[in-house]
Amino acid sequence: MNKTMNSRQDVQSDTGFTLRMCALCPSPCRAAWPADLPAPLESELPSGLALLAMAVLDGQVVFDDGLKNALHVKPGARVCVEQCVYGLDIVGAIVRVRGASVEDGLS
Ligand code: SF4
Repeated sequence: MNKTMNSRQDVQSDTGFTLRMCALCPSPCRAAWPADLPAPLESELPSGLALLAMAVLDGQVVFDDGLKNALHVKPGARVCVEQCVYGLDIVGAIVRVRGASVEDGLS
């Protein structure tokens, strides 16, 4: 199978560290979630998204339509990520995992 540089295997080395850092983080950025939005589910916060993306990257979950929809960084999470204490590009990491998984035909 011919894969491009964005295949899931290639993304793993580039983003694995970033996702693990975020998934294990105590999530101080959650305080930035906009008060005018409904309270987030854990899976909508950056650390929850990173955990989901990591599971996809590691092949621990089936990348079905539900998971594909869940791996969208919503506006509230984007506000949180702007306050990341580590300056990590969580949005970029999640977008790369999602894109690579679609490209690898996992959905
Ligand atoms: S975005 Fe940054 S501050 Fe927020 S949970 Fe992830 S690593 Fe922690």
